[in-house]
Amino acid sequence: MPELPEVETLCRQLNSLVVGRKIKKAQVLDARLGNIEGLNDRRIGAVQRHGKMLEFLLDDGSRLWIHLRMSGRLLWDTDGEQPSHLRWYVSFSDGRLLFLDPRRFGTVSRQKETVCTRAGLDALVRCGASQLHAMSTARTLPVKSFLISQQWVAGLGNIYVCEILHRAGISPWRRAGELTSADWGKIMSATRSILMHAICCRGTTVSDWRDLHGNSGEYQNHLAVYKRAGQPCLQCGDIVRRERLHGVGTYFCPNCQQ
Ligand SMILES: [Zn+2]
Repeated sequence: MPELPEVETLCRQLNSLVVGRKIKKAQVLDARLGNIEGLNDRRIGAVQRHGKMLEFLLDDGSRLWIHLRMSGRLLWDTDGEQPSHLRWYVSFSDGRLLFLDPRRFGTVSRQKETVCTRAGLDALVRCGASQLHAMSTARTLPVKSFLISQQWVAGLGNIYVCEILHRAGISPWRRAGELTSADWGKIMSATRSILMHAICCRGTTVSDWRDLHGNSGEYQNHLAVYKRAGQPCLQCGDIVRRERLHGVGTYFCPNCQQ
């Protein structure tokens, strides 16, 4: 599933490609997306990201929201082919923006309000340690579940939360409400540095992530624990473990993370 660095990669690539351009035609190919009308001849003013969602600002004041969810992909196409799993596209004078989605959980919708009114605080630009400390007070769920839920923090998924908690030295099973302000400070520091590095690497390709031009990311070469079960921890040499937490494979170092 694309997380914040992958969606931010798309956002940056879209800003350099489609901003200022007029949509010639928009076409829904999968009825499950519903009607997305009134896009023809609209000009795109900007593309922005909140958490894992993309928002296109259109010249009539409306907004187009795209959420890739499990398997959604955006691809820039200049040869007019019809790839498999194509659910929606918009065409411009010199190319098309394709929305591919094998599992069909992704959504595209036209809205009046900004996407920033939805979901929690963006993990990269709006979130701070003191806010997390306040929001987590008295919450008994594990810190990993708190960070992934999108209700309080938007943008993080399994890969980056595993990496962040390892960098911060905090066990994924610690109760969110028991963490100190110093713990949250370590988590936010790790969050910023890992997300910025992953964005520079255009995301993590451990399965099907590709950027707007079909290229793999490179952050998979920098992962400390994710998908490294049975291998030595890069910090202490102890063996990285994988256990399920709320049904999700969770990677951690039992020595570094307390
Ligand atoms: Zn370790």
